Amino acid sequence: MDKCIFCGSADIKVTEISGGEQKRVQCPLCTCYIVSKDAIDDRIIDNILQYDRILFSAYLRESVSNRDPLRLLSSDIMKIPEIVAPYKKLIPIDKVNKVICYIAESSPCIGGKVPFDIEKDYTRFYCKHFTELRQILDYLCERGIIKKEEKYRGIVLTIEGWEKYERLKDVNINSKKVFVAMSFDSELKSIFADFIKPACKECGFDAERVDSKEHNEKICDRIIAGINESRFVIADFTQNKHGVYFEAGYARGLGIPVIWTCSDTFKEELHFDTRQYNHIIWKDGNDLKEQLINRIKASISINKR
Ligand SMILES: [Zn+2]
Repeated sequence: MDKCIFCGSADIKVTEISGGEQKRVQCPLCTCYIVSKDAIDDRIIDNILQYDRILFSAYLRESVSNRDPLRLLSSDIMKIPEIVAPYKKLIPIDKVNKVICYIAESSPCIGGKVPFDIEKDYTRFYCKHFTELRQILDYLCERGIIKKEEKYRGIVLTIEGWEKYERLKDVNINSKKVFVAMSFDSELKSIFADFIKPACKECGFDAERVDSKEHNEKICDRIIAGINESRFVIADFTQNKHGVYFEAGYARGLGIPVIWTCSDTFKEELHFDTRQYNHIIWKDGNDLKEQLINRIKASISINKR
């Protein structure tokens, strides 16, 4: 294995683990993943479209921390087209907004430079190829939203850029809708109906979720439409469902605030560094309801309305 099976980067570090049965791959684009030897030997990845692999690289980047890499068996690799299906629904302006939010959130200060490497960073924004990201950056430069160093190695958000970012964050400021991304397991039905929905109601919002177990064309459209019109998103990572990572990442890309939650029993299984997003870790429904009300009042209602 001399190249990353998803993004094709040759700049990878491969370590054999579990007596050679698995490989731990450290990739500058895909963070880190563990793949079983048979998945590589059987060349299962060859059946996955190139663009699906790039989008999966974005998924890994969005949801995985180096500390806790995702383990991929042959069966997981076969599921890639299903996992990345919603990413294909993104329109160009979604990618543009994601770039602006990323630069703003990575800026050390006003006028601070954000290091950039177009050839490595394009997967972060679900671009098909690095030329797509270059096009977006050229556009942002022409509009005075960013300033660049040669070849975009460093990018500075201009004051106009900060203004644009603030407006992006104020998206759907008058909406009363809340999109809830979570597992649809029957065990969690009551968590939504008896605790999440009432918590939102108490704060003046109406929580909705798209009730389906799997992603398909129609569901993807409903999910994206639901997020597009919501004031904020609640993403519950209990049971660690693939779709929730997408939905949270998509909302953030649009500047829609996301409240991250997870039950106490599943917190160890979260793929990413939980401290980064300040998760609400809940013990039971009542605990979740109380914490949610506090969080909504503190971060959504008072500051933004
Ligand atoms: Zn990679």
